[in-house]
Amino acid sequence: CGIMGYIGQQQTQEILTNGLKKLEYRGYDSVGVAIHDGESVQVTKAEGRLDNLASRLENAPLQGSIGIGHTRWATHGRPSDQNSHPHTDDNTEFAVVHNGIIENYIELKQELVAEGATFTSETDSEVIAQLLSKLYDGDMITTIQKVIEKLDGAYALGIVSEHAPGKLYAVRQASPLIIGSGDGENFISSDIPAVLEHTRDVYILEDGEMAVLTEENISLMDVTTGNPISRDLFRVDWD
Ligand code: GLU
Repeated sequence: CGIMGYIGQQQTQEILTNGLKKLEYRGYDSVGVAIHDGESVQVTKAEGRLDNLASRLENAPLQGSIGIGHTRWATHGRPSDQNSHPHTDDNTEFAVVHNGIIENYIELKQELVAEGATFTSETDSEVIAQLLSKLYDGDMITTIQKVIEKLDGAYALGIVSEHAPGKLYAVRQASPLIIGSGDGENFISSDIPAVLEHTRDVYILEDGEMAVLTEENISLMDVTTGNPISRDLFRVDWD
């Protein structure tokens, strides 16, 4: 699938849909976005190609300058509106896009359901949103670390939360993810071409790494230990 994320000053909806257009080759059975308007997170998603989502967004535009988007290539759960990403917890406090497969999602889902979570999709990915809500301890970084400890499998993740206005989180394990570094704005994406119209300076995230993005800053860390990672920006010199 394809992941695109944005944090900055601009309205994010169009930046996400333009980026997703360039990632459609990675999967195209459904498309969706989650946008943080500074207070809450709104999700719009649709089965089918990007055009279906675009017409929904045209009728009801989402305001906000932090967001994540996803084009899906279904592995668990048929293509449908409900199974499209982003996925959220019951109160839409957390929204997540996921590329990959959570191998142990059945056990995790059983546990979460037993504790009262209401699942709205058949995907493996929804457990991540539900776990974020269940394990939230007031600090997004330690919460994400606790969630990651529970996951087996492959994942590139983009995460936004009502609890973290001004922040965008990304994690990578065995699925590709890059971070684009702009001027007063930053990006996440599954692939470099989707950010090239905005910036040529990127970090290639490696397995086991998390990135915390604000408008002005990108911090990389080891997701297990929380230790900061320093890395030079990679300058893309091709078109
Ligand atoms: N396993 C997830 C799903 O089926 C993500 C698939 C993808 O990478 O697009 O929804």
